[in-house]
Amino acid sequence: MKKDTKVVHGGQNKKRNSGIVNTPVYHASTVVFENIAAMHVAAEQALKNRQKHLFYGRRGTPTHWTLQEAMSALEGAADTFLTPSGLSACTLSILGCVKAGDHILMTDSVYEPTRTFCDTLLNTFGVETSYYDPRLGAGVAALMKPNTKVVFCESPGSHTFEIQDIPAIAAAAHAKGALVIADNTWASPYFCQPLKLGADVSIQAATKYIVGHSDAMVGTIAVNEAALPGIAKLLGTIGITLAPDEAYLATRGLRTLGVRLRQHQESAMKVALWLKNRPEVRTVLYPALPDDPGHAIWKRDFTGSSGLLGVFFHRTTYEAVTAMIDGMKLFPLGYSWGGFESLICPSNPGKSRTAKAWPEAAPGIRLHIGLEDVDDLLEDLAAGFERFNKALG
Ligand SMILES: *Cc1c(COP(=O)(O)O)cnc(C)c1O
Repeated sequence: MKKDTKVVHGGQNKKRNSGIVNTPVYHASTVVFENIAAMHVAAEQALKNRQKHLFYGRRGTPTHWTLQEAMSALEGAADTFLTPSGLSACTLSILGCVKAGDHILMTDSVYEPTRTFCDTLLNTFGVETSYYDPRLGAGVAALMKPNTKVVFCESPGSHTFEIQDIPAIAAAAHAKGALVIADNTWASPYFCQPLKLGADVSIQAATKYIVGHSDAMVGTIAVNEAALPGIAKLLGTIGITLAPDEAYLATRGLRTLGVRLRQHQESAMKVALWLKNRPEVRTVLYPALPDDPGHAIWKRDFTGSSGLLGVFFHRTTYEAVTAMIDGMKLFPLGYSWGGFESLICPSNPGKSRTAKAWPEAAPGIRLHIGLEDVDDLLEDLAAGFERFNKALG
């Protein structure tokens, strides 16, 4: 099946759902059994064999299975686990691969709350983190220690947009027995499948493009056979579960992922090219641009680019960026992205970098290009630059 067909049909099981097209929301805690023998069969199937078999609400229902099966089909995964946020997908997949005394290598471009988890909680559990230049590629081999168990990638970084050479990083990690976890939120599995590039785990903050409507928090962890046992054990033991309403919303969003992302891509490219011609703009960070430093690897490993991009200026001040952002009509100020509407937020990624200094002057801005008419968006941005220039003086 091609990916557009998987987006529409992945995980569908009309027989399991009495003919209903969208798997209904099963609200469940207790599942009752006909007798002791049936209870034993359910335990064996659901827990030991990891089959889609009702056992207890926390262990999943058909609402969860539909999303899990659809995501596994798209990611090319052995299985997909569901968590209550993208951040928990990042932190729990790391926890499922390490123990006290281990070391992990983390990209310097990582989502900041993932970084905070590593520097605080993970550290107190006796797991050490060192940060590497996201563009290092095969060079991570030199940073591997005997106790390195995970190399974590995020390609591209959600503020700095470096594309990482996942095949080269995976080769270096696997040579030393480490697993590779990739946060694939920017591209979604529609435009990139890290497991096919050599990663062992592909994470989505499904909150973003999978849900697609800014109304639910969901994380997905797609795993290959190597990463499956550790993460399955961690999640089962710790008792994490995704609420069924959120699983339903994620599946519902997923069915239109292809058409939405193709439009995000088309509009974001128009905006990126327009921004590049603005005299105020020093650089537009968008890997689909031919002169982006990550373009060659992006072209090799991705089949498209989403709606999120970074903009940094020749001259900038906090006041100028504030004047621009505060007056926007179609770009509300807010965190997260991946919904149907455009968003803007200030960007100052340099303050958390430790492996490699960030060269751009701060603050810049980050734009999510939504599904509005792109001419309206450009008009709003042009007015924003007028305010920016006036405040800059
Ligand atoms: C938003 C985001 C997350 C966290 O997802 P939440 O659902 O907001 O917890 C993780 N990684 C990346 C790259 C993100 O953009």
